[in-house]
Amino acid sequence: HVSEDPITDAENEVKAWAKDKKNEIEQLKSQEKFRREFLSNISHEFKTPLFATQGYIETLQDGLIEEDMEMAKNFLDKAARNLDRLNYLIQDLDEISKLESGKMVLNIEKFDIVDLIKDTTYSLEDKAKQHNIKIEFKPKAGTPHWVKADRNKIHQVLYNLIDNSLKYGKEGGTTKIKIFPLFEQVLIEITDDGYGIEEKNLSRVFERFFRTDKSRSRDIGGSGLGLAIVKHIVEAHQQNVNVRSTEGIGTTFGFTLQKVQSGN
Ligand code: ADP
Repeated sequence: HVSEDPITDAENEVKAWAKDKKNEIEQLKSQEKFRREFLSNISHEFKTPLFATQGYIETLQDGLIEEDMEMAKNFLDKAARNLDRLNYLIQDLDEISKLESGKMVLNIEKFDIVDLIKDTTYSLEDKAKQHNIKIEFKPKAGTPHWVKADRNKIHQVLYNLIDNSLKYGKEGGTTKIKIFPLFEQVLIEITDDGYGIEEKNLSRVFERFFRTDKSRSRDIGGSGLGLAIVKHIVEAHQQNVNVRSTEGIGTTFGFTLQKVQSGN
């Protein structure tokens, strides 16, 4: 095309180029900031259980083991629990780095979500007993709910959400799992009757390493990465995850999946 004004054309071209570069620089800066924060978070998360373990072991070495067997046992337990925490952290970090590198490959297949929920609750049955929590899932008999998704990854989503309902649920309480068929999606909800999440923290629970003061102070094991992993997986499926909670009453996490008619 022949322009009326080649100088304005050239100027516009330069402007567009400069804008592109500016965006690129902004993007690099924000990636750099993310990396810095991520590293500082990780080292903090590792130091806490590591120093605690070191402290317990040093006290044992300094003579506690001869002086007070009861206390020594208690310290060993605490050291073991802190090592568990380190272990969780490493497993979850592994998982999240895979997810965040953008290399998540979804292996999409058609399956019955009712089946997967049953499998997942089965694998958490022992833990539910330990916490004295009943897992209630009453799908209508003979009614499968076909979805299209990565079965293993959705297993992990369910596992993390149900596991949380046991960790933060009430002793003697119930975790309820429900399926709601929508127009093109299926909604799965996991509800506990635990101590809930304060309003101000609700939007933060999906951030990596975020843990409420309550879960920290009650010494409930966890990495603060479980829900970040859940969000990643659900969003990679182009679906949604959300949470609602009332303090002292309980919490509901819900996520959607793409529905398939049985014949497809
Ligand atoms: P983790 O359980 O390892 O700490 P998550 O990412 O799974 O990490 O959860 C982040 C935080 O959100 C938890 O530490 C807890 O404070 C809060 N949370 C998650 N699920 C629940 C729940 N069902 N009830 C109350 N608080 C919860």
